[in-house]
Amino acid sequence: MVHLTVDIGGKPGVNCRGFCTYCYFKHAKDVPPFGCRYCLPFKKGCDYCTRGVKEGYEGFLPLKEVAENFLADLQATSDDVTRITISGGGDPSCYPEFTDLMEILGSLDVPLHIGYTSGKGFDSEDTAEFLLKNHLTEISFTVFASDPALRRKYMNDPTPEASLAVLKRLAEKIDVYAAIVILPGVNDGAVLENTLTWLEEAKVCGVILMRFANERAQGLILDNAPVMEGQKTHTVEEFREIVRTAHKNHPKLRISGTPLYDPLFDSPFAIRRHPELLKKLPEITGKTPVITGSAAAPFIAEILQKKGAKAGAVVPVKKEIACLMTIDDLQDLDKTSLTDTVIIPGRAFVHAREAAEVFGRQVVRGPEMLTADGETSMGMTEEAVLSLEFEGFSALINLINQYGT
Ligand code: SF4
Repeated sequence: MVHLTVDIGGKPGVNCRGFCTYCYFKHAKDVPPFGCRYCLPFKKGCDYCTRGVKEGYEGFLPLKEVAENFLADLQATSDDVTRITISGGGDPSCYPEFTDLMEILGSLDVPLHIGYTSGKGFDSEDTAEFLLKNHLTEISFTVFASDPALRRKYMNDPTPEASLAVLKRLAEKIDVYAAIVILPGVNDGAVLENTLTWLEEAKVCGVILMRFANERAQGLILDNAPVMEGQKTHTVEEFREIVRTAHKNHPKLRISGTPLYDPLFDSPFAIRRHPELLKKLPEITGKTPVITGSAAAPFIAEILQKKGAKAGAVVPVKKEIACLMTIDDLQDLDKTSLTDTVIIPGRAFVHAREAAEVFGRQVVRGPEMLTADGETSMGMTEEAVLSLEFEGFSALINLINQYGT
């Protein structure tokens, strides 16, 4: 089972036929490297936190280069290739040589997957037949709304009717996952209801609802806030309610939300509802404060308290999403009650040495993942989500005990 990825490069927004109004990358600045888990201990900044996180490609890669890179990967593989995914910083549907690329890959007779597209580059309904002919079997497609006028206005889609028709045609034959960024007062409420009904009738496999972020504390770390001047946002709790209602009203659709929540598993942090698994987690014998984002903090605290942690064991920063924590979040924390060592999220965009300077004490990174957010859990089984959480919390508690006073 070999899964190959074809990287077409491209810059988000720039190589998307212009920015969607809500695009995170719209006002992204060339900020200095944050530091991260991949950096060398003595150097803040590596390829991932300097370039990868900003998806800082120059532009689409020429077809010749894409094909040569793919061929090299193919030749390095001894097993049969079972799946090929097309991905990039830019939108595959807007790739200038998309037709040629699809024909080349289609000739291999291997199931193709388009990792993410807005569909803005699909100008004719016939594109669906072309994609099917070339063995496309799965696609993630941003919808925004089933109302073409809203798609045109907010996604800058010049041909919204054609894009939606392609989505609908594909959903009849292959696995289509739809994504919707929710803008309060624009595509929530009745518009969302209509869109979900439309997607249900189209028989898409799943829908991921994404909360729109417009402030630094909500996760805009590229000096890019606000993305839309004056645009309201949902709180994490309001958004959770939207996902819950959508799931209730459309039981045939697999609906999940990011950052919170996945109604099918009651995740993130589904393990808190599974006493038999909680029982198997190690007991807490030490005290090492766990720094995390404000959205996850109550859940982590609830689970750790069930294993013996005292109040104050989990310390939230203002940033809602732990994986988007940066050094300024740590600088803003009240550190007076913290003991010798602190644990920061494994994926925080923080260089460990700099964090240690800010705290004036030892800092260790926690596990990579404690749970799966709605986007990730969408493609997982409940067992896999619980197993991921069990491993994450076991590792976290072992760290707490190892460094705890
Ligand atoms: S398609 Fe995605 S990356 Fe491109 S402009 Fe829209 S939101 Fe940004």
